[in-house]
Amino acid sequence: MRQIDKVYIDGEFTTPHGTEMASLFNPSTEEQIGTVRLGDEQDAQAAIAAAKRAFPAFSRKSKAERIEMLQHLSSVVSARIPDLTQAMATEYGAPQAFTRFAIPHAASIFLDMAKVLEDYDFERRMGSATVRMQPIGVAAAITPWNSNIGFISSKLATAIAAGTTIVIKPSEMSAIQTHALVECLHEAGLPKGVFNIVNGRGDVVGAEFARHPDIAKVTFTGSTAVGKNILRTGADSLKRVTLELGGKGPNIILDDADLNTAIPAALRMGFMNSGQACIAGTRILAPAHRMDEILVQLKLGAALFRAGDPADPQVMIGPMVSRKQYDRVQSYIELGLQEGAKLLTGGPGRPEGLDRGWFTQPTIFFDVRNDTRIAREEIFGPVLSVIAYRDEEEAIAIANDTQYGLQAYLHGSDMAHMHALAERLDCGRVVINGAPHEPLAPFGGFKQSGIGREYGVFGLEGFLEPKAILS
Ligand code: NAD
Repeated sequence: MRQIDKVYIDGEFTTPHGTEMASLFNPSTEEQIGTVRLGDEQDAQAAIAAAKRAFPAFSRKSKAERIEMLQHLSSVVSARIPDLTQAMATEYGAPQAFTRFAIPHAASIFLDMAKVLEDYDFERRMGSATVRMQPIGVAAAITPWNSNIGFISSKLATAIAAGTTIVIKPSEMSAIQTHALVECLHEAGLPKGVFNIVNGRGDVVGAEFARHPDIAKVTFTGSTAVGKNILRTGADSLKRVTLELGGKGPNIILDDADLNTAIPAALRMGFMNSGQACIAGTRILAPAHRMDEILVQLKLGAALFRAGDPADPQVMIGPMVSRKQYDRVQSYIELGLQEGAKLLTGGPGRPEGLDRGWFTQPTIFFDVRNDTRIAREEIFGPVLSVIAYRDEEEAIAIANDTQYGLQAYLHGSDMAHMHALAERLDCGRVVINGAPHEPLAPFGGFKQSGIGREYGVFGLEGFLEPKAILS
């Protein structure tokens, strides 16, 4: 049993003032594997005070010094990739198909931000004014459980690049992963107080970060409901916010798509990270006149997405992170049946051969109407809905008929045409033919998928305030 009983404040692992304990589980076995001692408001305040003390000196560090820090952070995370992968597999259940990308990405994001910083001009002329981009002040990051190591790394990397200090509250369900990462980050030897990490409950430590007057900016990744709450709480001190929230991504198979490549790509986008991904393409939009062949291919393709223990490299879908998440996903599968959607594959209950662990069958519904709840609400599990469209106009209308607008997918043969269609999709990113992630491009959502952008120059500027000097 692991006991995580420290928080990281002012460059040291310290015992929190908070005494509440939370249990940590292996979702593949349902066994308790550890406990975490949670910080409280006093710990949150101590972290904010440390970051505030560190801010004046840190915000004056030169670009070259900050680039060196980012390079150092990348190398200490790179050095521990196997340990971090193990922690993510055990505590979260991430399949190797995901950790192979997610953990190296957590190391490389520091180098990506170093490159952005190197090329970024903090001062520019605008008319008769000099405009200087200035670090915003102490930032707070609040992160979810579905890619804990990656989210902490990307938010920390951006803060360092911008010259801001930061306090971070990771998901309370990810304490083993957080601890493994903080051990690496500590080795980088950054000045005390530049980053501080406090395990704790959202409504305790998270809420204190969202309300505290010394926090200038909150960068939050999580559910739309909590994001709205943070926006409301932060309004009292007019905090700047970046909110990365939910999604219900359209995964559009165009008329001219080659199904041999489009179907495997559409399924990868739909089932990524065991379906526990805000960017998952969970609504598969398919032309009605090709529906029969598409359903055959989807069924065949889905059979390759085996659910099971992430220790098995063939496994593509790990368990749901918790009993609560398992129950939630199961309830949506039941709801789909009640709403009259037809099951192509999967369904309620665990996959065959698995009698424990929070495993869900990879499930695809067809004949789904876009006005049903399974097509509108974020399920956050491996459950996809196939929706028919008559022509491209209708495909675009269905794609945009959602409260979300995070990431859309197009699969087809005519690249120029897909670029034209991409312009008409109301979302922060459009991925054509399964293109890989681009860490220099902005990431974030339209509508209720969020406010602001992360990554690249847009992400960096979210941690800066422009100041015009007129002379
Ligand atoms: P969540 O919103 O429940 O929790 C996210 C974080 O917020 C956790 O650290 C939690 O402790 C904290 N929190 C909870 N209540 C709070 C409060 N009142 N004040 C401050 N902080 C509070 O989300 P989750 O269940 O951990 O993660 C799943 C959700 O995250 C999904 O909706 C998913 O779409 C979203 N998500 C979005 C992105 C993105 O980049 N857009 C990425 C991953 C996940």
